[in-house]
Amino acid sequence: MIKGARDSDTISRASPLLPTTEKTMLRRTKIVATLGPACSDPKILDKMLEVGVDVVRLNFSHGTAEEHQQRCELVRSLAKTRGRAVGVLVDLQGPKIRIGKFKDGKITLKPGDPFVFDATCTQGDQTRVGLDYPELVRDVARGATLLLDDGRIEMWVEEVKGDEVFCKVVQGGVLSNNKGINRKGGGLSAAALTEKDIEDIKTAALIKADYLAVSFPRSAADIVQARELLHAAGGRAWIVAKIERAEAIEALDEILDVSDAIMVARGDLGVEVGDAAVPALQKRMTRMAREKNKVVITATQMMESMIESPIPTRAEVSDVANAVLDGTDAVMLSAETAAGKYPVEAISAMNRVCLEAEKEIEPAFSKGMLDHGFLRVDEAIAMSAAFTALNLNIKAIAAMTQSGSTALWMSRISTHVPIYALTPEVETRRKVTLFRGVYPVNFRPSSHERDQLLAEAEDELRRRGAVRNGDLILLTIGEPIGKPGGTNTLKIVRVGERKKA
Ligand code: PGA
Ligand code: MN
Repeated sequence: MIKGARDSDTISRASPLLPTTEKTMLRRTKIVATLGPACSDPKILDKMLEVGVDVVRLNFSHGTAEEHQQRCELVRSLAKTRGRAVGVLVDLQGPKIRIGKFKDGKITLKPGDPFVFDATCTQGDQTRVGLDYPELVRDVARGATLLLDDGRIEMWVEEVKGDEVFCKVVQGGVLSNNKGINRKGGGLSAAALTEKDIEDIKTAALIKADYLAVSFPRSAADIVQARELLHAAGGRAWIVAKIERAEAIEALDEILDVSDAIMVARGDLGVEVGDAAVPALQKRMTRMAREKNKVVITATQMMESMIESPIPTRAEVSDVANAVLDGTDAVMLSAETAAGKYPVEAISAMNRVCLEAEKEIEPAFSKGMLDHGFLRVDEAIAMSAAFTALNLNIKAIAAMTQSGSTALWMSRISTHVPIYALTPEVETRRKVTLFRGVYPVNFRPSSHERDQLLAEAEDELRRRGAVRNGDLILLTIGEPIGKPGGTNTLKIVRVGERKKA
């Protein structure tokens, strides 16, 4: 354990501008909250930002492009009033195969009930429902198991005839409109990007989304295609690969190489590989993402009981804490904030669980990190900065960054030292909201002269209450200043010394 490292997460005079609710501590793990009807009231949304949301997720499986655009504008205007950056993640629906609607919105199924899926059925009832994937009849045969609503309902396929798939209910329950359906074991033929996704990518570009999540990618090619479409539409979002197919686990290395981030999408992944396989895969994905300098989001059912209850279960608290201890960048809320009764409480609960779990983390390099050589000068500087911060009692790191990559590299190393990403680029400030231990700072120095710039950076951190006189801060910068280019300089200063000299 490195001496003095523990108290560097405690900031004594945090200003209200800091992206944290606890005035004395900075949470390192980020919180992603899905928006929906439960938080369409601007007052609730603002409260959610106040208690700790770093990134909002616009779930394109529901709602119209206009609704998402309006939500995005509202979030950005509330964030602006609060003087902080909030990231926006557009989550594409993907080829998730969904059932249609029921006459009465939902039905209740019992084990043994017969049930039919029929793509031509427009209004479902107790015996059958429509489907937005006519190919299902080609992809399944007698003996297949179909799972609905992330595995809550299970059916056994008895016969496929014409447009109809005849099933028997194995595990019953309430089935409501537009729930997802999948085959156990994976292997449905749907392509990762649907016609709707291709349209939605244009919306993502239009609203300048910070992250674009691709649902159900099977391979690296799916991610590359999404990025090409996004760039063609003028978007510059970072791409998140949602790992939720059995095939994606096999191709994880290649998918990580072409993605900026991954999401451990435990709902659909559990359907494909079986629920029991998910925890170990979650740990593997978290480790691999960090070692490859990628961002990782842990998602689905993290605070599930809070859809109905104001407090989480002990198991949910443990789940969130363990994701933090494993090194995830962010934990995500889905229905808890989009459609639950306690969206604000769910965020508060996550906030407090993350803060507590973070106290237990031993600052360390992972073995994988020590083994690999650096490919770039800026990467070497970033890693050296984090290594130094681990071993010297550094109070804060100030990374002067254009793209945010310096801050990303630094944050792949587990330390208790806050990393401030100082940048005039608003899009970069929004992206770093997802990086563990990184805090965006709007920084527009009055000069490109190095000493003046470093002095202004120091003043900015002091003004925010991040450091005080006598503290050591570590700054990184790219020279020549003003010219976009890689970070190549690392400097350590004692706050306040300059004024004395
Ligand atoms: P979804 O993805 O919420 O879009 O289904 C997450 C998951 O499958 O876990
Ligand atoms: Mn999913």
